[in-house]
Amino acid sequence: MLSVSEASNHIRKDFSPVEAEFLPLSGAAGRVLASDFLSNLDLPPFDNSSVDGFAVQASEISAASPSSPLTLKVVADIRAGAFSKTAVGKGEAARIMTGAALPSGANAVVMVEDTGFNDREPGSLAPAFIEIMKSVGPGENIRRLGGDLHSGDKVLSKGTLLRAQEIGLLAMLGQPAVNVFRKPRLALLSSGDELLPVESPLVPGKIHDANSYLLAVLAEKAGVEIIRLGVAADRKADVRSRLERAVSEKADLIVSSAGVSVGAFDYLRSVVEADGELDFWKVDLRPGKPFVYGKFHGIPFFGLPGNPVSAFIGFELFVRPAVEKLAGLEPGPRVSQKAYLTHAVESDGRESYLRAVVRQENGRLTVRLTGHQGSGNIFSLVQANALLIVPSGVKSLPANSDVDIWLLD
Ligand code: AMP
Ligand code: MG
Repeated sequence: MLSVSEASNHIRKDFSPVEAEFLPLSGAAGRVLASDFLSNLDLPPFDNSSVDGFAVQASEISAASPSSPLTLKVVADIRAGAFSKTAVGKGEAARIMTGAALPSGANAVVMVEDTGFNDREPGSLAPAFIEIMKSVGPGENIRRLGGDLHSGDKVLSKGTLLRAQEIGLLAMLGQPAVNVFRKPRLALLSSGDELLPVESPLVPGKIHDANSYLLAVLAEKAGVEIIRLGVAADRKADVRSRLERAVSEKADLIVSSAGVSVGAFDYLRSVVEADGELDFWKVDLRPGKPFVYGKFHGIPFFGLPGNPVSAFIGFELFVRPAVEKLAGLEPGPRVSQKAYLTHAVESDGRESYLRAVVRQENGRLTVRLTGHQGSGNIFSLVQANALLIVPSGVKSLPANSDVDIWLLD
């Protein structure tokens, strides 16, 4: 029997990042950097004011206070985006806006609130003279050139997921395109004669194919491009021709659900084994059986269970880390949290992922199961906002104990 972490580590070893491509910055969110990124600029690129106010020589106004203001002559009016060539000398000031370049000669900025200038109307003209009510130290209210980062600094490492903040930084650095790993391609197959597409009304004996939809959402959120192989009938030829599409469309991995138990009509096994290999793993996991892993024409193949809840958990535990590695990430262990269990929970000793509701109650997280835990019962997964993890070897969790949970999206 393999532990969940042994199985997942074994799978991770099989995967490495796909090729890189250059993408426009606007389409790169959610992708992973394929090379280190060194800054090509200093940020800020010039000394600038962090407030609206008056740029001065700090030493000129060291005696200024509300009771004895000092008056300076205003020699320039500098808006954001402008660059003033007028230097600020002794006895002088320049009105300056937030983000505007500091004029030469000045070494500090007095906030407008600490001056006698009260006109806050947009477009107001600069006064000829300004009363300064407060002293400032050298450098005060100035954002220095390179104060945030320097040209040549390694600001983003290969393997970084590009979130809003990284995209913002790259934009600030004037990078219209970025070197990222392409999206991994995941071929998705459902199987079983009982499955009908969602558009078809039910007839006796049939059910709707939930997994094509459910797994596609998980996969898309994990950042892959999906090759939809549809629903394979319980016939060798159909299974084979659909899997062959994954090969011709150059899938990076194949994820199928159902059709791998010992049921007499389960053809996936023989089709995959004819052109690859398949391991029936006994994983110490509940729900999540049966799980098979192998290769079809050299492409990693995940055979998840047919029951939607088992397929969901199999994806989270085994497929997600594989997808992350393909995408260029280095997946760490998923971060669990602690919650206070309000009632006793029985288990069978396997590592269990039970559907649960977590709430914030009296200043702490509490957790209770959503009820019926049958692996075909998708509604209890809908009612859950978390999975309660029962460790391997544990057959009961007492009420009022702290337990591990995973919050679901
Ligand atoms: P199997 O692994 O083929 O024995 O399927 C296990 C259970 O999962 C059966 O009750 C199937 O009807 C069900 N099942 C298989 N595939 C799907 C699917 N795509 N959507 C919903 N239920 C499914
Ligand atoms: Mg079946």
